[in-house]
Amino acid sequence: MPRTLPQLQQHDVAELRGVGPRKREALAALDVTTVLDLLTLYPRRYIDRSNEATIASLRTGDQATLLVTVKRSGVRRARNGRPIVEVDVADESGRVRLTFFNQPWRAKQLQEGAQVAVFGKLDSFRGKLQITNPVVDLVGDRTARIVPVYPQSQAEGLMTWEIAGWVEEALERAGEFADPLPPAWRAKLGLADRTWAFREVHAPGSIDDAYKARRRLAFDELLRLQVLLVRRKRRLEQASLGIRHVIDGPLVPAFVASLPYALTGAQRRAIDEVMADMAGPHPMHRLLQGDVGSGKTVCAVAALLMSVQGGHQGAFLAPTEVLAEQHAVNVRGLVEGLSVGGANLFGERPVKVELLTGRTPAGERARITGSLATGEADIVVGTHALFTESVAFHDLGAAIVDEQHRFGVEQRDVLRGRGVEGVVPDVLVMTATPIPRTAAMTVYGDLDVTVLDELPTGRTPITTVWARGDTLAEQAAWQQVRDEVAAGHQAYVVAPLVEESERVQAKSATAEFERLAAGELSGLRLGLLHGQLPARDKEAAMEAFRVGATQVLVATTVIEVGVDVPNATVMVILDADHFGIAQLHQLRGRVGRGGSRSWCYLLGAATTPEGEERLLALERTTDGFELAEVDLDLRGEGTILGARQKGRNDLKLASLRRDRPLVETAREVAFDLVGDGSGLAAHPLLEAEVDDLVVDDEAEFLFKS
Ligand code: ADP
Ligand code: MG
Repeated sequence: MPRTLPQLQQHDVAELRGVGPRKREALAALDVTTVLDLLTLYPRRYIDRSNEATIASLRTGDQATLLVTVKRSGVRRARNGRPIVEVDVADESGRVRLTFFNQPWRAKQLQEGAQVAVFGKLDSFRGKLQITNPVVDLVGDRTARIVPVYPQSQAEGLMTWEIAGWVEEALERAGEFADPLPPAWRAKLGLADRTWAFREVHAPGSIDDAYKARRRLAFDELLRLQVLLVRRKRRLEQASLGIRHVIDGPLVPAFVASLPYALTGAQRRAIDEVMADMAGPHPMHRLLQGDVGSGKTVCAVAALLMSVQGGHQGAFLAPTEVLAEQHAVNVRGLVEGLSVGGANLFGERPVKVELLTGRTPAGERARITGSLATGEADIVVGTHALFTESVAFHDLGAAIVDEQHRFGVEQRDVLRGRGVEGVVPDVLVMTATPIPRTAAMTVYGDLDVTVLDELPTGRTPITTVWARGDTLAEQAAWQQVRDEVAAGHQAYVVAPLVEESERVQAKSATAEFERLAAGELSGLRLGLLHGQLPARDKEAAMEAFRVGATQVLVATTVIEVGVDVPNATVMVILDADHFGIAQLHQLRGRVGRGGSRSWCYLLGAATTPEGEERLLALERTTDGFELAEVDLDLRGEGTILGARQKGRNDLKLASLRRDRPLVETAREVAFDLVGDGSGLAAHPLLEAEVDDLVVDDEAEFLFKS
């Protein structure tokens, strides 16, 4: 019988010859406790012996990998007392010295006779060739042409050749591997056989074979994750009863007709998709992804009205109070003049919109919760205080969740539980954080995705200038602020991001406010907005800016989301280097919302090469998806998946960044294999792997990030 991966997980590494209690402990430090862990401890890299340089062929300045034997090692002290380890190594062509500063343990690691792979740059010291602080891997006496290099636990004294030996034994004893992938898919995708892949990834015949093996095993990881997500999606759809909303009610068309502009094609498509979902028997569970300014609010309001026109209610959840207040203003404006009631088109009463946040006064709250319970209120806009306060709805038909990244899956689940007796409301999640497609498939893998990929026409481009820390360029930025204000426009100044503390942020914004009022922006009407202000002051600050009483708003990142003042045409971001790409892009989206040309100035120098790349990318493009790809490249997928607990991760080989096409393929295969049902009855091997190998809280983690 071929072995399955869950079976291999049942065997402790200690069952292998050569793994005694001490080595077992060392392996545990690398999160390897079972035979499966060992087989999925993949080489970090490979050394191709036939391609390696020889010592004699190298000159000063060359960078090379050498396979050498240690001849002698010793420690001496520098004049400042710091240890310097000197190791002489040789291959058949010559000898070279390795010099290690401040790594005293190297003397013990690199003892006479050890076989090592050395990577570094040749320099010369007092006329002799040497390599300073090279990367060293203990490879042992391997005879194969391609030598795998494993992650080693330096502290525990594990050698890469020991690991290779145990892997060899494990593979030998495991024999054939069962393959959960249907042969037809394997052939179609040109993927290697699993047994072959496990062998070749550890002991490849060529670098090319190592690559093919890696591709197969990475695909398996991605498939397991996608199967989990698609299965969750199907289960949610099947297990719950949704509302079949009326699709041909009067309210949505009346709303669309009342807009002072035509919908973009993308908005029309999005609204159609949402309405089709809502009319269907299963609850909607859709993500609406759209860059800042793409017009998501209109789509959200259409969904709310679709619910209202059938006699149900709608909820609109925002991540912050400022944003909830803003949405309430917008939604009220958008539904003004629309009426509900009876079967009659313009029946008895106007659509009623309430705002409920943590700061709503008690009396007001009682009135609002009362009207939600009786059904007198049609739409409620609020923060998550909406569920923590055990608000009871008369009949919640649809919920919009804005800015998904601040909500978790539990909250979505709570929402689902807020419908009338067992009926699950439709849920539309909106995010303005563009994330790359393949990442969306993973992070939001249990949702259907609609992308608003078109901006309303009439937008004027935003010119972004990174002043690169240059004083003259910074003065030009402040001059631009004064010029725009003189022309009747408004400006934002974003205070430096000092640390993730509201209190510290508030202090920094206050300091900038005072500095600018006395300096670069003296004589202008400045406002201040930060998260520490009492709600009343926050509202007043926003309102003063909205109506133009304030010309320049100095703020923290509280303005990052949703704030919509079309007359604002300049933004100055202080110490821009401290912000991430996504955040800068969100901030910049606060300007360029009206008909006038807009500017965004990024002040401060870059402190790292990545910082420079970020700011240059911001200068180059305003396309959020392009920026998201840059971000993914710069920061790696860790930023999307978050800082997961080490070792609880089934994605060992696959990378959302490097393996983009493979993610899409895995999703397609997962949809095919899971089918319409929620089970994997036809694919028991795969089902067992998903259940046993993808740790539950890993999936939960994905949903939360
Ligand atoms: P988002 O939430 O996606 O960032 P909003 O919904 O706040 O974007 O819309 C941004 C601005 O664009 C608003 O001022 C809105 O009135 C306007 N807008 C939305 N749709 C259109 C459209 N089809 N044509 C013109 N302007 C639009
Ligand atoms: Mg429905």
